[in-house]
Amino acid sequence: MGQIIILPETTKDPISLIGRRAGVCWGADITDEKKNYRRGLDCIASGHGRTFEFVNVEAVLDGYSARVIREWYTHIGGAPTRLQASTRYINYKDFSYIYPATVKTEEQKRAYEETMKAITEAAQKLEESGVPREDAALLLPLGMTTKIVDKRNLRNIIDMSRQRMCARTYWEYRQMFHDYLGELRKLSEEWAYLIDTQMMPKCEAMGYCPEKKSCGRMPQKPSQGQRHL
Ligand SMILES: Cc1cc2nc3c(=O)[nH]c(=O)nc-3n(C[C@H](O)[C@H](O)[C@H](O)COP(=O)(O)OP(=O)(O)OC[C@H]3O[C@@H](n4cnc5c(N)ncnc54)[C@H](O)[C@@H]3O)c2cc1C
Repeated sequence: MGQIIILPETTKDPISLIGRRAGVCWGADITDEKKNYRRGLDCIASGHGRTFEFVNVEAVLDGYSARVIREWYTHIGGAPTRLQASTRYINYKDFSYIYPATVKTEEQKRAYEETMKAITEAAQKLEESGVPREDAALLLPLGMTTKIVDKRNLRNIIDMSRQRMCARTYWEYRQMFHDYLGELRKLSEEWAYLIDTQMMPKCEAMGYCPEKKSCGRMPQKPSQGQRHL
């Protein structure tokens, strides 16, 4: 499975930082850390989302599929940024790939593994016959693992939790997000509190499921017609 490395530039005391930044605008004494922490909690409870944007998270996401990273990239609120391992200069002759648990019979395993092997061999053959690596790399599958270094803010991560803790999200994303929060949790008590109170699927936040195809965990949003009955 993949690995998340939280980089040292990540905010260690997110709640206190929120309180310090809000305190500047409230003319408060921001040298008092207890008050900063309490002010941060107030901002969170009141949903003052702009204050969450001061909390920075920088991380390496390594060994997850190119497919799940492509989904990660759709979360663009707050202009996060990232770098991804190049497909031009890395040696992909022996690329590694995600192996889903649903591929379990001998026949399924054979089909999956033989396809990956055929891709490796074809890419190698193309390269050896003069096709540049950047072109041979077009054959690489979405299941191939990749590595990114990523920077985003707390508000974006809370918003991501609404979509990606949904039971209908792609399993690898849920797993990767679980790993990501697990590593943030290790940073501090403040992070543990934020994860326990703020990270939840949208159905939990809204009290109903807005998805057309629901998993059934929460009641679905009543349709317009039903509401008038
Ligand atoms: C069950 C399920 C199925 C999905 N299927 C697909 C799929 O088939 N294809 C697909 O592409 N995605 C799919 N997604 C992903 C999803 O639709 C979003 O693309 C993804 O969650 C990121 O977008 P976002 O708006 O949630 O987050 P962000 O882009 O991070 O936005 C967060 C919030 O910031 C604000 N914001 C962001 N950008 C702007 C802007 N330009 N202008 C104004 N406000 C902005 C909005 O308030 C927004 O809600 C699926 C998700 C789920 C849970």
